[in-house]
Amino acid sequence: MLRALFGAALLGCAAAAPAWGGGPLSIVATSTDLKSLVEAVGGDRVRVEALAPPLHDPHAVEVKPGQIAALRGATLLVKVGLDHEPWLAGLLQTVGDPRFLPGGPNVLDCSKGIDLLQAETARVRPESGEHVHGFGNTHYWLDPENARPITAAILEALARLAPGERSNFASRRGDFLKRLDEGIARWTRALGPFRGTQVVVFHESWPYFARRFGLQIVAAVEPAPGVPPSPAYLSSLTKQMKEANVRLLIAEPYSSAALVSRVASLSGARAVTLVPSVGGAPEARDYIALFDLDVERLTQALRAR
Ligand SMILES: [Zn+2]
Repeated sequence: MLRALFGAALLGCAAAAPAWGGGPLSIVATSTDLKSLVEAVGGDRVRVEALAPPLHDPHAVEVKPGQIAALRGATLLVKVGLDHEPWLAGLLQTVGDPRFLPGGPNVLDCSKGIDLLQAETARVRPESGEHVHGFGNTHYWLDPENARPITAAILEALARLAPGERSNFASRRGDFLKRLDEGIARWTRALGPFRGTQVVVFHESWPYFARRFGLQIVAAVEPAPGVPPSPAYLSSLTKQMKEANVRLLIAEPYSSAALVSRVASLSGARAVTLVPSVGGAPEARDYIALFDLDVERLTQALRAR
């Protein structure tokens, strides 16, 4: 209890002076999805910058000087956590602000409190010391139900920085959750007829989405997250896809187009590009619209099989 109080007081001291003079809180999120969720709770009380562009592999990001400046002036860093952002350590070293170090007072790690999938995945890049999904699958924002714990954590973090705004943030979150519930009902209805459909994914971005909506992911084109397939692996994969009559391949906008069309033509499956992050297509303007777009693309592809 004492420790909790002390921690809260520390956070208050560290953040209150530069952060809250009535203007918006400056926040840096590592992804556009977290940016959208912070904005859903914070509204006009926050100004959020996302570090990773939405049409880029989120595990391999090149940070620009302007973003370093943004982080220096930020009062809160919101991240996916685990090993989703292996590029963040170098950025934090450059910025050199202890507030943003792991466990620091002005960091919100949204993976805390998430029920992780694939937590048993073996480490796959021992040579670099960096690998992806080594502590569990990091693409948890793609289960819309996970927006509940994520926005709950965002609400607490924002309310600590601006205690007088707590009810405001809570009310905005309530409005967001209402839209989210309507969305989940809509998406579940649309994908209902396709429950149990077998799909192959390019990268393991979709296990949370698949679990929520009843799709069955039977294999990934990458034999391990971030590892490109060998010709032997591809030939065995596409043979198995044909044998099991897997008709759909889910790719990302940044997947290798040559590999996607190769797998599609060898297996006879139809490839569909889903958007894994807000802003990855013009229609995916916020977190709810992202799912509307992906569910629309998916149902179209599934109907056309
Ligand atoms: Zn990944």
